[in-house]
Amino acid sequence: MASDSSGGIREWMNTGSGKWVTGLGGLALIGAAVWGVWAFAAKGGYLGGKRAAMKDKGRNIIYICTSPPCGSTGKMHVEFDEAYPAVCPKCRQKSAVPGFKCTTCGKVFVKTESMVFRCPHCNKLYERMPGGLRPPPEVTGTPPPE
Ligand SMILES: [Zn+2]
Ligand SMILES: [Zn+2]
Repeated sequence: MASDSSGGIREWMNTGSGKWVTGLGGLALIGAAVWGVWAFAAKGGYLGGKRAAMKDKGRNIIYICTSPPCGSTGKMHVEFDEAYPAVCPKCRQKSAVPGFKCTTCGKVFVKTESMVFRCPHCNKLYERMPGGLRPPPEVTGTPPPE
């Protein structure tokens, strides 16, 4: 009797209501796709909200204290729109400014807005590019004659 019942279902699929139910399955698939897009957008909105929360919380920067007896460097937490010099966490003077950590010698020096600057400790040359800060390409001299 199993073959009879499956034949009945196949017949039912070809009837008006059967096609309608099959079509509903297709609609459910589209609905799932829309749901996925919506969930993705909601996730983006969630991340956007997180970013706004980060702005409220401020940020961590590498600072360098410009007060000669102190001169400490390290990470400090500042307001998102902090006015510099900020209060140095070590000497409590208003002498902490954003620092730049040299990728070669690891020492911190006062961050500059210049397009091209050098590390005052090891003389490494930095060039500010539109897409971010990266060291200039290695200048290769003429290969030594063989
Ligand atoms: Zn200090
Ligand atoms: Zn350096």
